[in-house]
Amino acid sequence: MGTPPSDLLERSIVTRVPTHFQEVVLLVTDWCKGHNIRTLLVGLAVATGLFSATIGVQAVVSAQVLQPVDPARTQVILLGSGTPFLDQNKVGASVAIITGGVAYLVDLGPGAFLRTVEVAQQGVEALAWPNRVFFTHLHSDHVLDYADLLWALWWRREERVVAYGPSGLKALTDGLRAAYAADIRVRTEGLQPVLTHGYNSEVHEIDGTFQFEDERVRVTGFPVCHEQQEAYGYRFETGDRVIVISGDTTYCDSLVEHARGADLLLHEVFSERGLSAGPDPPSRRTEDWQRYHRAAHTSPAQVARVANTARPGTLVLYHQLYFGVSDEELVEEVRSAGYAGPLVSGQDFDVF
Ligand SMILES: [Zn+2]
Ligand SMILES: [Zn+2]
Repeated sequence: MGTPPSDLLERSIVTRVPTHFQEVVLLVTDWCKGHNIRTLLVGLAVATGLFSATIGVQAVVSAQVLQPVDPARTQVILLGSGTPFLDQNKVGASVAIITGGVAYLVDLGPGAFLRTVEVAQQGVEALAWPNRVFFTHLHSDHVLDYADLLWALWWRREERVVAYGPSGLKALTDGLRAAYAADIRVRTEGLQPVLTHGYNSEVHEIDGTFQFEDERVRVTGFPVCHEQQEAYGYRFETGDRVIVISGDTTYCDSLVEHARGADLLLHEVFSERGLSAGPDPPSRRTEDWQRYHRAAHTSPAQVARVANTARPGTLVLYHQLYFGVSDEELVEEVRSAGYAGPLVSGQDFDVF
């Protein structure tokens, strides 16, 4: 891929709910940076819709629809770009890779399951009944909505959930099933004509490097470096794109090796500036927390090093631990660390 001038390459947005028209204008201005005239026209059409929704009576629920960039090719939707710090605009970590009309989820942090519903309601049918999920690791900020995937309307699920992840995933799944035993019993023993796939999910625990392949995608799971936690990154190879997701990790050689040549690298990051001295006292980290974050997560200098070595088509920051700094400041940290390639600070609902 060539090197475009914009920080917003190939970025689109399925939906967002602005509260003021000014924000709408800013959003559309953002969308149109680096896009061609067709995208500009789409942006203007969406702006009109957004404006209508904005001036409408209590436009609490988003009504706007922006079609993803090109439905004919593999798409990556950032469902949740957040961290353990709960934020309704950046819910728990979750990425959907959609290829051949089928969605493959990576992680389901808190709030992410409802994002699948929202995006499905915007016309992305692959997310109507997602059933394939790959977990990077079992920290709660990556798995809390696994329960929702398993148990929301489980009695109407026609395809069982198939989950891949580190050791412990089976125990987690069994534990959730035990927690919902009364619900299973009352629905299966009563008059409800339930389907049984919902409570018969299929779990595969990864032991070291792992490969999964079907007619649409090849997925490689590889160990990454997340302090004490068993954690994996994933490389998805579809017919037209290569997508690599770091999960939670500090700088890790295995990640760099697997990210080489990727079209898209979604990588976690923390703000060095925020970690060492955030502008707000609550965001300052004590020495022991700083030690942990440096051991478990990736600094801007490290992510710049990863990207400069692996040279992905686009680097997308996600799971950003800002510690009080803005997206612009975080991007600046990565830039000033020497990465000049295509870069996006990912947000919920971004489509790549
Ligand atoms: Zn973690
Ligand atoms: Zn995390």
